[in-house]
Amino acid sequence: MTIYNFAAGPATLPDQVLAQVQAELTNYQGTGLSILEISHRSVQFTTLLAQAKQLLLQLMNLTEREYEVLFLQGGATLQFTMVPLNLANKFHRVAFVNSGHWAERAMAEAKLIPDLAVEEIATSAPQFNHFPTVEFTGPAQYDYLHLTTNNTIFGTSLKQLPAANLPLVGDLSSNFLAQDYPFDHFDLIYAGAQKNLAPAGLTVVVVKKSLLSQMPTALPAMLSYRKLAAKDSTLNTPPVFQIYVAKLVLEWLVSQGGVSAMEAINRQKAQLIYEVIDQTNFYHNPVRPADRSLTNIPFTTGNSALDQTFITTAEQAGLKNLKGHRLTGGMRASLYNAMPLAGAVALRDFMLQFAKDHAE
Ligand code: PLP
Repeated sequence: MTIYNFAAGPATLPDQVLAQVQAELTNYQGTGLSILEISHRSVQFTTLLAQAKQLLLQLMNLTEREYEVLFLQGGATLQFTMVPLNLANKFHRVAFVNSGHWAERAMAEAKLIPDLAVEEIATSAPQFNHFPTVEFTGPAQYDYLHLTTNNTIFGTSLKQLPAANLPLVGDLSSNFLAQDYPFDHFDLIYAGAQKNLAPAGLTVVVVKKSLLSQMPTALPAMLSYRKLAAKDSTLNTPPVFQIYVAKLVLEWLVSQGGVSAMEAINRQKAQLIYEVIDQTNFYHNPVRPADRSLTNIPFTTGNSALDQTFITTAEQAGLKNLKGHRLTGGMRASLYNAMPLAGAVALRDFMLQFAKDHAE
C-alpha cells in the first residue's frame, strides 16, 4: 500500500531526497564520515552551506548582492522575537495583519518587548475564514508590516502582497517555496523548515543586506541577525544535517521547475480536494474561496463522530495524519511541495468513496 503523509509539519519530504539521504548517510561524498558527524568548519560543510544559500536565492529570484540568507534554529517562533528586536529601531512601532493563530502568536511575542508599540491593522478574527484586506491611509510610521502569508490552521492564504509603502516582513512557514510571491517585495522573510524544506530544527531567514547595517549592535549574538550574518550562520554549531537535507530539497525544487512550477502543481492538488468539498455537499470548508490555501485544507463532515471515522478509515487506507488542528477539529489535508499529485488524487478518491458510503 502506498502511504501518503498529510501532516502539517513535520511533513512529507520528497522520496528522491530521502533515498539520497539514506544512500549516503554513512559515507558523505566519499569522506568515510556520515553527514551526521561532519564538522561545520569542514570544506564539505562550508561548500554545502554556500550551495544551499545560492540555490535558495535562485529559487526566490533574489540576488546575493541584495539579500542575506541565514540558517538558524529556534523555529519560526523565535523569529517572532528576533524580528522586532532587530528591525523595530526607528519608530518603535510595528504593524501586524492578524490572519490567524500564528499571527496572534507573533504579535503576542512582540508585545513582550519593552517600549514597542504593536498594532493590529487588519484582522479576520474571530473566524479567520478569509484573509484580511490591508489598507493604509496616510504616512505609515511603522518599522515594518508583518504578514503571515499562509494560515496553516484555518486554511487561508494571501494571494497578492499589499501595496504598502513600508518594510514588509513575512512569516512564510507554511507556503514557503510552495506559492509564488514577488519575494523581492519583502525586506525579511522567515520560515520554519519542517513543512516545505527540511526536518524540524532549521529556520530560514532571508533579509535585505541594506537592513543589516541599521540593526542594533548591542543584542546578544544568537539574537542578532547582524552578528549571525557576519559569521555566515556559523556563529555556533549550525544544524548541519537539516541544512544538508534542505540543500537536497532545494536541488529537487530546481529540478521540478522552481517555485512557479511548484505552485502550478500545488494548485492542481488543492483543486482536486476543493472540488470534492464543493461538489458533494458532504464536506465543508468555511474559507472564502478566493482566500483558500493551496497547502493546508481544513474540512469537516459537520459531525464529529463521522469525522473520527473518516480519519481512522483514511489512516487504514494509507492516508495518514488527516486529523485537524485541535483548535478547529475535523480534518486537515496538508499538501506541501513534496506531496505528489498522486497523493491528492488518492485523497480525492477516498473522499468521494467515503461520502458515498456514509451519505444519509
Ligand atoms: N508560523 C506558521 C505559519 C506556522 O504554521 C508555524 C507552525 O506550524 C509556526 C509559525 C511555528 O513554527 P515553529 O514550530 O518552527 O516555531
